[in-house]
Amino acid sequence: MKVAKFGGSSLASAEQIKKVSDIITADQERKFVVVSAPGKRNDEDTKVTDLLIELGETFLENGSAEDTLQKVVARYRSIADGLGLSEDIVKTIEDDLRSRLAYDTSNSGRFMDQIKASGEDNNAKIIARYLQSIGFIADYIHPQEAGLLVSDTPGNAQILDEAYEHLYTLRERDGILIIPGFFGFSKEGRLVTFPRGGSDITGSIVAAGVQAELYENFTDVDSVFAANPTVVDSPCSIKRMTFREMRELSYAGFGVFHDEALIPAFKSNIPVCVKNTNNPSASGTMIINEREYAMNPVIGIAADKGFSTIYVRKYLMNREVGFGRRLLQIIEDEGVSYEHIPSGIDDTSVILENDQLTPEKEDRIIHRILHELGADDAYIEKDFAMIMLVGEGMHETVGIAARATKAISEQDVNIEMINQGSSEVSLSFGIHDADVDKAIRGLYEEFFSTKEVLQ
Ligand code: ASP
Repeated sequence: MKVAKFGGSSLASAEQIKKVSDIITADQERKFVVVSAPGKRNDEDTKVTDLLIELGETFLENGSAEDTLQKVVARYRSIADGLGLSEDIVKTIEDDLRSRLAYDTSNSGRFMDQIKASGEDNNAKIIARYLQSIGFIADYIHPQEAGLLVSDTPGNAQILDEAYEHLYTLRERDGILIIPGFFGFSKEGRLVTFPRGGSDITGSIVAAGVQAELYENFTDVDSVFAANPTVVDSPCSIKRMTFREMRELSYAGFGVFHDEALIPAFKSNIPVCVKNTNNPSASGTMIINEREYAMNPVIGIAADKGFSTIYVRKYLMNREVGFGRRLLQIIEDEGVSYEHIPSGIDDTSVILENDQLTPEKEDRIIHRILHELGADDAYIEKDFAMIMLVGEGMHETVGIAARATKAISEQDVNIEMINQGSSEVSLSFGIHDADVDKAIRGLYEEFFSTKEVLQ
């Protein structure tokens, strides 16, 4: 049995949903189908989830949001019309949206979760209805009925272990099961969404729960590329890669997958295949536990902007017991998480995402570091990017760092920080935001210019 997950661009219109239905029904093993909300039909379009966020926020502000509600209903109406479904499903969707707007607004996070989740929920209902209308046995499955239990943390759900046992029982059900992605339910019965892009997480959880032999993730590219195709001209396709490699790449900016999404499939040893809804015969990218890496130790280059560095210098810091803990405590007290902590003897930097900071938090953090930790110097630098070279083969290959730093220096880009985890599956460089594209091109040229087929 396979789990197939379809992303928003695969389900953005009636025409796309017809393609998806052809894919589902072409293989009897595709029994579990996880769907996103309708995405963009073109570059100027708006994703339904973004419309829903606008709907919820406008409603919270003004107590009504009729225009936006009508925009959402119009998206579903055009899908239902194109699929030849009757108006009553559109009416059901409109009623559903109105009843969600009547939900308690005193906790805005919970209210927003109700509204956001309707995107996938209503799309799943439409798709199940369409499959039935063309003669297939198909059912919409509500995540609560499926036992998809999650933590009670609005907008940031984490799966609870017992959910997997519940999901396993879905194997007994007949026909094709259409499950909305992006949300689950807490033990108290509250709807809770995963972070943005979280339908991938649902897909992976369902694959682990039903112990699928394959988790197919359908998107709008033929495969995962070794570098961002908007930066590098026709980058190579990756045919096979490991979970760790994909996790590192998606963490560092590869948009193909949500970076948390692979963990459930990985833990259950279920291979994942990234495929293209618009070209389903292309073989896609397989993500597996192990690969041969003799051909190319580096599999991809990713980059992400929007980091800040808290730089701290204190003479003899290395000899002071508990300095690191106390520094991180200050950051924890502000509710901020960090990404990396590269250190020298008398100085250390804490790298974190810009959007977790506010001017007030920054002032408090720097003030405490200077006064409570007695640092000689402390300041925050912005507009920092992390560029990451990823590949399982790196730990067995001498000279990767030398080649990478040379390639970056040849682009006249200054490296501010270098970090290599002990697993040696990735090597990251901190550089200025403005230099990212140049550095990616330089690294790509160095590691991929021979265009060998990646194994
Ligand atoms: N619709 C949600 C989002 O746009 C979840 C998803 O599509 O994965 O973030």
